[in-house]
Amino acid sequence: MLSNLNQPLRTLPGIGLKREKVLENASIATVGDLLLYVPYRYIDRSTEVGIAHLPLDGEVTAVGEIVSMQTIPGKRRRFVMTVEDQTGSVACTWFGGIQYFKNSYRAGDIVALGGKLTRFGRTLQMVHPEIEVLANEDDDNQRLHTGRIIPLYSTTSKMKADRLTARALRRLLFAALQAIGDQIEDPLNENIRKRCGIMPLRDAIEKIHFPDTTTDIDTARQRLSFDEIFYIQLYLGHAKKLRQRTPGRVLTSSGPLTRQLVANLPFKLTQAQTHAITEIGHDLQRPVAMHRLLQGDVGSGKTLVALHAMLCAADSGAQAALMAPTEILAEQHAHTIRELVAPLGLDIALVTGRMRKAQRAKILDGLGSGKIKLTVGTHALLQNDIAFADLALIVVDEQHRFGVVQRALLREKGNATHLLVMTATPIPRSLSLTLYGDLDVTIIDALPPGRIPVRTGWRPAQDRDRALQFLRSELQQKRQAYIVYPLVSESEKSDLQAATAAFEDLQKGALSNFQLGLLHGRLKRDEKETTMSAFRRGDLDALVTTTVIEVGVDIPNATVMMVEHAERFGLSQLHQLRGRVGRGQHQSYCILIADPQDALSDDAHERLDAMARTTDGFEISEADLCIRGPGHIFGTQQAGFPKFHFADLVRDSALITAARREAETLLSRDPNLTVHTVLRRELDATALHDMQIVEAG
Ligand code: ADP
Ligand code: MG
Repeated sequence: MLSNLNQPLRTLPGIGLKREKVLENASIATVGDLLLYVPYRYIDRSTEVGIAHLPLDGEVTAVGEIVSMQTIPGKRRRFVMTVEDQTGSVACTWFGGIQYFKNSYRAGDIVALGGKLTRFGRTLQMVHPEIEVLANEDDDNQRLHTGRIIPLYSTTSKMKADRLTARALRRLLFAALQAIGDQIEDPLNENIRKRCGIMPLRDAIEKIHFPDTTTDIDTARQRLSFDEIFYIQLYLGHAKKLRQRTPGRVLTSSGPLTRQLVANLPFKLTQAQTHAITEIGHDLQRPVAMHRLLQGDVGSGKTLVALHAMLCAADSGAQAALMAPTEILAEQHAHTIRELVAPLGLDIALVTGRMRKAQRAKILDGLGSGKIKLTVGTHALLQNDIAFADLALIVVDEQHRFGVVQRALLREKGNATHLLVMTATPIPRSLSLTLYGDLDVTIIDALPPGRIPVRTGWRPAQDRDRALQFLRSELQQKRQAYIVYPLVSESEKSDLQAATAAFEDLQKGALSNFQLGLLHGRLKRDEKETTMSAFRRGDLDALVTTTVIEVGVDIPNATVMMVEHAERFGLSQLHQLRGRVGRGQHQSYCILIADPQDALSDDAHERLDAMARTTDGFEISEADLCIRGPGHIFGTQQAGFPKFHFADLVRDSALITAARREAETLLSRDPNLTVHTVLRRELDATALHDMQIVEAG
């Protein structure tokens, strides 16, 4: 924003070389940067409540003039300042920092005090309030600091040392706006502004600093948010246009293999699955590379849709590969797909990091010669020596587990390769437009029929025995259960020990009549495989496991998901875990064991409540977005998520939709922004390149 205002700060009144350095140190390098250095808070002095009328015992802001200051000696030396207005006065006390207070304030200064107001006898007092000088006798423009809504700016210690207080910044900004306000160019024309209900940019910049009313602050912020969102949408829209020029291999979408697959299914495809299959088939038939996101709640049957697409490749004589984030999941996919394609006379190769040498050589050979049509694997698929004869389609499962780089590496294995990414993390529309705005999106919005919603409850740790009693009763009816322990990372020994210890405890104690299995990330691959297949066959009644089980595992007879230390899990993780049950014809249960209520953080409490309230993945992710903010939803791997200064993906979802619409219209008329020169310049100047974008082309 304001990229034309890139002149050095010293061109402004009141800023010399030294001050320029100080500001630069706070990342304010140009005049434009300064104008976008927005207040962190405002004090409304237009409707000021007198000191005597302020409510007691809560957080208040009091404004008045310093009438006296003194240091009180004694065992606990303190500094007392009396601040007064027409209605009364308040005595402020600080213990410590006395010299600093002496130097920083003068009688006659108008200050704002923030903190708790209490009454002691007949005296009103505040202890250690926040204090900010609003004005003093030196101010030539008293209007700036009194009788209006006053902006407060955050200041670094370097800024303070250079006397760049919030008040000085206020003066600086006022002068800056007067000097160069009319150089603020609006990249959006009046039509767009009218349609989207946003104010001109110049007004927004002025009002964000010097609002006349509190509504001004909101409308100004809205305009600035809109621009931020709009640039991203333009960028994504542009990336999408570029992508649509990437060639793709033309595949048939109605060959014999896909037809047989559908004909052989033991169930009917859901309408949502049929719709997804049609949309993807349509993409694959075109000479343009598909770039599609398939989004569907856990258990909605995405695997089948992916397999259908993979068979389109096989039907066309080409190859397809599916990449899964964990070995367990890759193995499971291999297992299910093998069963589904065996009747069609096909096999699927499994590529993981720990294949035996001879087997690996054989697979490499099959991939290189094109004999192997279908492959499932982990990251191991990315290894250098894995080369395909004719890779036409790549499917990436649980896509948020993979980075952009990995996806790009995989695409390099083919030529004119189509890409289908699948995610079970339902994303609120506002977020998906921002994260995946350059992808086409297919949503599977219904679960297969007959699914019974999982019953969820959370219990404090002291009720654990009763929960186990319930679990036992399910096992007695030949159902199966998962008991999950948190594992923050594979290297955290202590958590692993907790799971191992719990396994031994349960096997000796509460669940001694049942067969238990232990599963964690540090087991050898064949140990994992043995345990998983024993569980799948029903030889094990319950699995004690770390979160290696979180993603994708599909065992319909499992009806209980018990999560220990549930307060330590994120909401989407809990939802994923719950998705492991409720996949068959029996009622399933999710029991979240948490710390006692009074030991829980508010966030944890909200998460557990949300889980108990709904099984709808979209609602869960909306709740997650509200509780944690967008940056966390995808975990730490989403480092490239755009950082917003003004916009808020939760609050501004309507703005996002509007910005998306406008960006599309504009790009369809002026794809390279040759007419919209200011916009073009802004877009070029905005550092969007480190954003999470699925690679274009
Ligand atoms: P996810 O979308 O979480 O990856 P899966 O593909 O693992 O879901 O499917 C979950 C379960 O639903 C599997 O056992 C699968 O066989 C079954 N399934 C898929 N489609 C249907 C359908 N149309 N009718 C009944 N069951 C289905
Ligand atoms: Mg899945």
